[in-house]
Amino acid sequence: MGATVFVSGATGFIAQHVIKQLLEKGYSVVGSVRNESKGETLKKNFATDKFSYEIVEDLETVGAFDTALKKHPEVTIFLHTASPVTFDVEDNEKDIILPAINGTVNVLKAIKATAPQIDKVVITSSVASQLTFSNPVARVSEDTWNDVTYEQAKESGSAAYVGSKTFAEKAGIEFVEKEKPHFTVSTVHPVFVFGPQVFDSEAKGKLNASNGYISGLLQLKEGSVPQYSGSFIDVRDVAAAHLVEIEKPSNGLRVLVKDVDFTSQSLLNIINKNFPELGLVKGDSEAQVDSKRIVDDAKSRAYLGLNYIDIEKSVVDTVKQYIAANK
Ligand code: NAP
Repeated sequence: MGATVFVSGATGFIAQHVIKQLLEKGYSVVGSVRNESKGETLKKNFATDKFSYEIVEDLETVGAFDTALKKHPEVTIFLHTASPVTFDVEDNEKDIILPAINGTVNVLKAIKATAPQIDKVVITSSVASQLTFSNPVARVSEDTWNDVTYEQAKESGSAAYVGSKTFAEKAGIEFVEKEKPHFTVSTVHPVFVFGPQVFDSEAKGKLNASNGYISGLLQLKEGSVPQYSGSFIDVRDVAAAHLVEIEKPSNGLRVLVKDVDFTSQSLLNIINKNFPELGLVKGDSEAQVDSKRIVDDAKSRAYLGLNYIDIEKSVVDTVKQYIAANK
């Protein structure tokens, strides 16, 4: 019988893929959700006794995870994926930065206090904590750290997100240094994540923040192409990376999960080639993706040993599912 894994933020885009892959490999999963209705929907969708849920209304409530963990002495691995992934909020500090930091600390404290049997914690961090805020084209790797300050992070939604991932990860490291807990803590750092939702019903209406970028492009029937660029990874590979991380120790690698770079134009080219009937703007379809920033993920690739899903398949799967769900 496989081990039981606790997954915080079980309703999330990435978390649902992680849960699907865990269940397929024989693990049992306890997921935390914010309310009963979200838990029941997940339970119905996963349709197996090996998935159950606990309600944790707010990451920030002190002791939020203690009760849930006390009910599940069978849990030996904790995946902390829950964190605000949103950029348009009333208060950047209150709505993005603090829940990320306090959520991470709450999880680690709860495990230390109530779950002596848990020996491994994996936190879903982000390349955001490895980028350089003061120099957007600086080289990025497993060893680099974002230099964003707390004051800078409060200034915009996107800076707050970058800060939230950086400060939450640092808070985790500080906890381990001070508290010397009985478990290991490691981090997985995806770049921009695209890909289909596990369940078609989740593709109806507004998509999660990163896929929202693709659904946004689907509205582009005229005008100019936005100047956006980034690095891509498919959600199924992000989930697979979490499973590698729980099955073999990465020894503090800060695993960077990244495939190729993209621009809005390169995404539009894929969409126009595969869905010409949508009649989206063409832009400069000959323009090459000109990666100004080097993202050096060589160590992580060697560690993970995954064959990444290519960007064309990822975008096509995402668009196909979105169109079908929103007919
Ligand atoms: P998502 O779909 O928005 O999922 C976020 C999850 O966190 C949801 O389950 C959400 O619950 C929960 N959550 C957010 N704020 C919370 C709060 N204050 N209290 C309790 N739960 C809260 O995002 P995702 O894309 O799957 O991201 C999952 C993780 O991956 C995050 O840590 C994110 O930073 C990281 N990541 C994502 C990307 C990307 O491109 N998507 C890239 C790098 C790293 P509800 O469903 O109830 O709102």
